[in-house]
Amino acid sequence: MKTYDVVVVGAGPAGSTAANVCAKAGLDVLLLDKAVFPRVKPCGGGLSVRTLRLLETIGVDLPASVVERKILGFKLVGPDLHPINIRANSSLGCTVIRSKFDHFLAQKAIDAGVRFLDGHRVSNVEWAENWIACHTKQGEFRGKILIGADGVGGRVARAAGLRGPLKPEFTGVAVEVDVPIPKKELEQKINPNVLALYFLNIPLGYFWAFPRRAGLSLGLGGVASQLHGLPGKLRIFARWYARQTGIRIPPLQKIVGHPLPATGFERPLVANRLLLVGDAAGFVDVFSGQGLCYAVESGILAGRTTTKAINKQNFSEKALGEYTKVAQRRFGEELRFSRSVAMTVHNHLYGGFKLLRHIRGLDRLVKDIATGQTDYYRLLRNPLKSLGRGIIAELRARFTH
Ligand SMILES: Cc1cc2nc3c(=O)[nH]c(=O)nc-3n(C[C@H](O)[C@H](O)[C@H](O)COP(=O)(O)OP(=O)(O)OC[C@H]3O[C@@H](n4cnc5c(N)ncnc54)[C@H](O)[C@@H]3O)c2cc1C
Repeated sequence: MKTYDVVVVGAGPAGSTAANVCAKAGLDVLLLDKAVFPRVKPCGGGLSVRTLRLLETIGVDLPASVVERKILGFKLVGPDLHPINIRANSSLGCTVIRSKFDHFLAQKAIDAGVRFLDGHRVSNVEWAENWIACHTKQGEFRGKILIGADGVGGRVARAAGLRGPLKPEFTGVAVEVDVPIPKKELEQKINPNVLALYFLNIPLGYFWAFPRRAGLSLGLGGVASQLHGLPGKLRIFARWYARQTGIRIPPLQKIVGHPLPATGFERPLVANRLLLVGDAAGFVDVFSGQGLCYAVESGILAGRTTTKAINKQNFSEKALGEYTKVAQRRFGEELRFSRSVAMTVHNHLYGGFKLLRHIRGLDRLVKDIATGQTDYYRLLRNPLKSLGRGIIAELRARFTH
């Protein structure tokens, strides 16, 4: 039986990216996915410039046909309902529809030389001295190394004993619905290049309205232990949003979602012959709900470590541990910190929004986060000065009115 250099399980952004990196380095790669592509994936589809730049580093440029809308700003609405508008003079990212985006990335992996078998569900994983194998209905597939990119609750991580059931305190949850809206109506009623986030007294969560070419992604996400009855809440939000914007939104039909794992570096990411990436590794920012950026970056880093391991013929947990170290350095602090940010922001929503209005250079800060030039961790270390100025401005406003 053939033994591939690498078998990647899951052809989401993390898996396709990892497979692409390995194939470009000359490895023999098999990519498996249980779904038949293109497959639907509930997602806001917000991609930051940081993610786009990461993809560029592996030679993947998003064509216009995959981009739904360029993002040039944010609208943040707090419980006082007065929006904070953040505008950028250059792109902050774009929105995509996941079925198209993920299919495009899988195709890029195929172009790089990856063998892609969709419709192949991995039911179990088996370790032997010289290989690691995935069992599917269609048969067994062996690799020298396995990359688990099979998303939240992934089979691979559980088979390896690296993940148990998701704990609510480490888990986000999000639901989403795609609403078709005539392009003309969308462009007349809202700015179609702005991502709108609504922090409306939802405990540890927010609603969003992300523009598509001819429609909107409406959704709600937050920390799982605090959020209940999400579809009902999203329906109420959609009716309110329709009244606010004048956009005709039909009754929401198919609201779907899934958990957002946020265990990140709290759990092991590698074992002998095995690495986990993306949601399977628990790389989600619980505050923003962003996972695509970490899926792509972890895919790139795991691909590089795998290439080294194959070249050195060293598949031990210790050798693969280099991936954990590099990933931790790249985005460990920021993921850990996002949980505290979620708590702080939501515990102080009213005051927080008031202060936000006074942060000087907010537009620049948001742009720096979107491009990856800063992150929460560095941001909250540095702008104490800005916050200080904000507090003084707020106090001044209180005493003079
Ligand atoms: C409602 C919602 C909205 C979101 N919005 C955003 C957003 O706007 N921006 C953002 O950055 N992030 C967003 N996220 C998070 C983002 O969707 C995830 O972080 C991202 O999809 C992770 O990519 P991945 O490749 O790790 O996993 P996935 O995209 O989940 O891909 C995993 C793949 O593995 C396959 N698979 C699973 N099990 C098996 C198996 N046993 N055998 C074979 N294949 C298998 C699946 O079919 C799937 O194709 C959102 C999440 C939700 C739930």
